[in-house]
Amino acid sequence: MTAGLGRVAKDAPVPRRFDPVLIRADFPILSRVMRGKALVYLDNAASSQKPRQVIDTLRRYYETMNANVHRGVYALSEDATAAYEWGRAMTAKYMNAPSPAEIVLVRGATEGINLVAATYGRGHVAAGDEVLVSAMEHHSNIVPWQMLCEERGARLRVIPMNDRGELILDALPALITSRTRIVAVTHVSNSLGTINPVKEIIATAHERGVPVLVDGAQAVPHGPVDVQELDCDFYAISSHKMFGPTGIGALYGKRAWLEQIPPYQGGGEMIRSVTFEKTTYAPIPMKFEAGTPNIAGTVGMGAAVDYLNHLDWTAIAAHEQNVLRYAEDSLRSIPGVRLIGTAAQKASVVSFVMDGVHPHDIGTIADQEGVAIRTGHHCTQPVMDFFGVPATARASFALYNTLEDVDRLVAAIARVREVFHS
Ligand code: PMP
Repeated sequence: MTAGLGRVAKDAPVPRRFDPVLIRADFPILSRVMRGKALVYLDNAASSQKPRQVIDTLRRYYETMNANVHRGVYALSEDATAAYEWGRAMTAKYMNAPSPAEIVLVRGATEGINLVAATYGRGHVAAGDEVLVSAMEHHSNIVPWQMLCEERGARLRVIPMNDRGELILDALPALITSRTRIVAVTHVSNSLGTINPVKEIIATAHERGVPVLVDGAQAVPHGPVDVQELDCDFYAISSHKMFGPTGIGALYGKRAWLEQIPPYQGGGEMIRSVTFEKTTYAPIPMKFEAGTPNIAGTVGMGAAVDYLNHLDWTAIAAHEQNVLRYAEDSLRSIPGVRLIGTAAQKASVVSFVMDGVHPHDIGTIADQEGVAIRTGHHCTQPVMDFFGVPATARASFALYNTLEDVDRLVAAIARVREVFHS
């Protein structure tokens, strides 16, 4: 079990012994010098770095296998197709999907959510219906539903949160009404770090016959998920946040839903036959994959999850929690620093503000110290409104971050204090 994210697939390989120093050696970019200092990369929730295993796989794909997939009768195209479908199968395994056919390859979590809003949403959401999201969603899991609701005359409703940044689940049963058509909720908040009890939310929604989409973009960098154990209807992820390439991600959908809902985009690859009178569609998942796909990206995502599948996630969860607690305690001890997001169950994300200093200035001074953090609203403006701040500074840690990285962050924040309060 990894920090509440689900169970590791039963046939997981024997893991490598976890040692952050050895792990760091897999990530060439971490040895870069920035602003004359060793880079400390703490913006993993925006995009993570890539191990050599992923970079090498991408090079090998382009050097030895590149061709279009699914159409060629020649051997090279068969190699490209095999590599592409391997990427899908590895991703299915990482999420413990029953079958690779239930993994739709998309640009990322954003496209996965838009796909469900455009297909399931158009088919099932009518005037007067309701879509339920939570107070801590990323804009990607708000705006597609809001667009759908506007188009349909439906209503967007919101599960509230408390001032620690935890969802108020007591409110949930009353919010799921006879008009609720879908619940869309994040597994892990990108701006607060909160790990939501999605299994419980799914069970409550299912008792009332309502399907659930989980935005898993921030969960999968912290370990494999088990979509069967969660029993979610849809689960969206992005490869670039889980040590794979940009421009690719996956949407898991239960077979029954994927077979029932209409295609997303029209074009090549997604058809069985086309005449001017009528088109019939390919079986899942191809029905949702119009056009030449991101072949190299899929192979790279496969390499990333292959890398992750060989790690010891129990040890990594303990390491990440240790780094998180150390960062929270150290930042709290700096006068004027306030943490935003103090849920009991958190992934390794720390958002904070500092009295009298704009978060952008914190980010700029940290950068001068070689420490890369994110500042802004993190595409969660409703979360910023809730906490009454325009923005936060956010340090988000991955498996390769260490206690020394935290020390560098804390020294940089102490420097911010000197600049603004001396
Ligand atoms: N959901 C969450 C919780 C996220 O953190 C992000 C990325 N910041 C997304 C969705 C969107 O992911 P992408 O931009 O890769 O589509």
